[in-house]
Amino acid sequence: MSSVLSGVKIAVLGGDDRELVLITELVKMGATVGVVGFPRDKIAHGAFVINTVEEGCKDAEVVILPMPGTNSEGVIRAVYANDNLYLTEQTIRQISSEAVIIIGSARPFLKKWSEEYNFTLLEIAEMDEIAILNSIPTAEGAIQIAMEESRITIHGSNSCVIGFGRVGITLARTLKSLGSNVTVAARSPGQLARAFEMGCKHGQLHQLPELLSQIDFVYNTIPSMTLTKEVLTHANPDILIIDLATQPGGTDFEAANQLGLKAILAPGLPGKVAPVYAGKILAQVIPGLIINELSKSDRSMLFG
Ligand code: NAP
Repeated sequence: MSSVLSGVKIAVLGGDDRELVLITELVKMGATVGVVGFPRDKIAHGAFVINTVEEGCKDAEVVILPMPGTNSEGVIRAVYANDNLYLTEQTIRQISSEAVIIIGSARPFLKKWSEEYNFTLLEIAEMDEIAILNSIPTAEGAIQIAMEESRITIHGSNSCVIGFGRVGITLARTLKSLGSNVTVAARSPGQLARAFEMGCKHGQLHQLPELLSQIDFVYNTIPSMTLTKEVLTHANPDILIIDLATQPGGTDFEAANQLGLKAILAPGLPGKVAPVYAGKILAQVIPGLIINELSKSDRSMLFG
């Protein structure tokens, strides 16, 4: 795969240790990589530091933003930057309409700009090849929190996994392999059938009140209100709630607090608990996406 990105101008704007792994890989593949928001001594030999987001975007054919992207004010997540890095409309206007922006999840304003200024926006967090691999450190990170925040073992405990998509399945499997008694709650009959096949107990979401009375650890992966006050009222008073769903999660945290239940919202676990692994996932997937985009006819003529 080496040199396949030869001559491609890539700007990496902010990020964390995951991007450091990605930058190394992009340089190895021959790309010209400009980096904003990292000190010189952190980044791979061969990449160069750029001082501002504007400068980084000016000639870039590919702009890479971090998985968590920006906040609602346009501040790019950049853990090693001394000052805030802003993604503004003025900056975006300088990007070529042939350019590609790659980001985990885009805020509505970036989606709007991609339509207005006609560049390609690739949101990668929801792609299976990223999300399934990311579910591994997410599950391990969630279990790490459970271990740290409780005084019982996972083995022999009663766990409930709510939602049975990419994270839910990996979590249930990992918990089972540690000897936990796992119950899965989901709305889809197909997902519940899979939970049964995996040897888990299972129930519909409306059964949560009765299910939670015997549960030690509940992991929510549904990104909408699920652990309501009504549901929490029936929970085991010693339950630990770990909410993994996109902020603001699916738990009524105020009600949990009022009821004296311990509830933790745990976003961004792959980058926190396994940044090198999570960086390798990016390094594995993003070059292929770039090659795919560049091979589309008019862009390949432009960029050679
Ligand atoms: P997924 O594969 O789409 O699975 C989501 C699950 O939630 C499915 O069972 C889905 O059921 C269910 N669901 C979604 N909306 C629902 C609703 N309104 N009512 C009932 N069930 C609903 O997603 P995933 O990749 O597992 O990710 C799950 C969540 O974790 C997402 O919010 C994701 O952003 C987040 N996440 C967090 C971390 C972290 O570090 N905390 C890491 C990765 C992902 P249906 O299939 O029936 O829709």
